[in-house]
Amino acid sequence: MGGHDRWVIHLDMDAFYASCEQLTRPTLAHRPVLVGGAGPRGVVAGASYQARAHGIKSAMPMSQARRLLPPNGVILPPRFALYELLSTRVFDLVAQYAPVLERISLDEAFAEPPSLSGASSEQVREFGTRLREHIRAEIGLVASIGAASGKQVAKVASDLAKPDGLLVVDQGTERDFLAPLPTRVLWGIGPVAEGKLRAIGVRTLGQLTALSDADAVSTLGSVVGRDLRRLATGVDDRPVSDRAELKQVSAETTFDRDLIDLVSLRREVRDLAVHAHKRLVNAERVARTVVVKLRHTDFSTVTRSETMASPTDEFDQLAAMAERLLIDPSDFGGVRLAGVAFSGLSVPHQDPLFTLSVPVPDVSTAPTVSRAPAPVVTSTGWRPGDDVVHDEFGSGWVQGAGHGRVTVRFETRSSGPGVARTFVQEDPALRRGDPGDCLA
Ligand SMILES: [Mg+2]
Repeated sequence: MGGHDRWVIHLDMDAFYASCEQLTRPTLAHRPVLVGGAGPRGVVAGASYQARAHGIKSAMPMSQARRLLPPNGVILPPRFALYELLSTRVFDLVAQYAPVLERISLDEAFAEPPSLSGASSEQVREFGTRLREHIRAEIGLVASIGAASGKQVAKVASDLAKPDGLLVVDQGTERDFLAPLPTRVLWGIGPVAEGKLRAIGVRTLGQLTALSDADAVSTLGSVVGRDLRRLATGVDDRPVSDRAELKQVSAETTFDRDLIDLVSLRREVRDLAVHAHKRLVNAERVARTVVVKLRHTDFSTVTRSETMASPTDEFDQLAAMAERLLIDPSDFGGVRLAGVAFSGLSVPHQDPLFTLSVPVPDVSTAPTVSRAPAPVVTSTGWRPGDDVVHDEFGSGWVQGAGHGRVTVRFETRSSGPGVARTFVQEDPALRRGDPGDCLA
């Protein structure tokens, strides 16, 4: 397919988790809202733009975010059932415009609308405007859209369009569009690669494209170096396609020279873990199992794995586990190829506060060992953020609880800001609500 008659759309919901909360709990509509675990190891999974204005970001430790949060801010546990419900509604609507969608997370997808084949930039702009308005009117949420001749540039464009924006990159200008941007905007350039590039004076994508083949390959590795440099020029003919359920994310590499000491093997495996982790994060998944593959000088291959009681996307934990699985080459012979995979993937449903992470070493060379799931921690009584239904007052959410009392804010998407009422914890008229109730 010729690059110049193709239009790829990247649609990304703005501050999705926090926006779902603000949509269904109108009292919060203009307030700083954080979604995530409130416990000592909790992290910010979502932050409204009002919270971001105070320097709070996704993945920040909640303890740090809490210090930055102004007094009118709120911290809520995630309601993934609600986010999935709204995500389905959004992408069912988008599918009316573009039948083939490549979903990459709950709130992000690529599309290649057939109606845009051969369209002008102006026509693409009209299309994007109409789609954004439709989503806002029907679902009440804001989507930003990037459009370009390929996936990479479309994704970068939607990031730049945020918040509440649309950015169409004219065909033929991809290279100029990318040139001034920092290297890390490119998929596949993580902190390690960014650091290596910076060390040779490369900070922008324009500088990356100007590198010689030899420099690109020696800095980024042969395969990755070539791919990334091509993407940096804006050439990207990867198709948009329905993606099968993701089974694992991985990265592997063959070394120019066999590694014969544990220190250098460890360093390489950490780099591989960085790449695999980036894929995990891009896919918005958590992993339970870490797999390390080592091919020795004699071509024998050893695969070792370790499975945790509950899944995680924490880099340090995953990388440390990968390092623990390594075999010292000075004992077992040189290593010519190494790979790191994260498998047992799931969508992060659990509040980090209630996940237990117990590494289970697998000393055999069998691929995977499954263990019993983590014990379920049941909450007693009401927690802030819980959905509630009251016999008389209808649907609402727990704003605060303690000292035998619970304060409920009665409101739904269509009710406008609601009234707060306080009850005794055991009030029989109070029942647990369904996440869909608040969409009424
Ligand atoms: Mg988003």
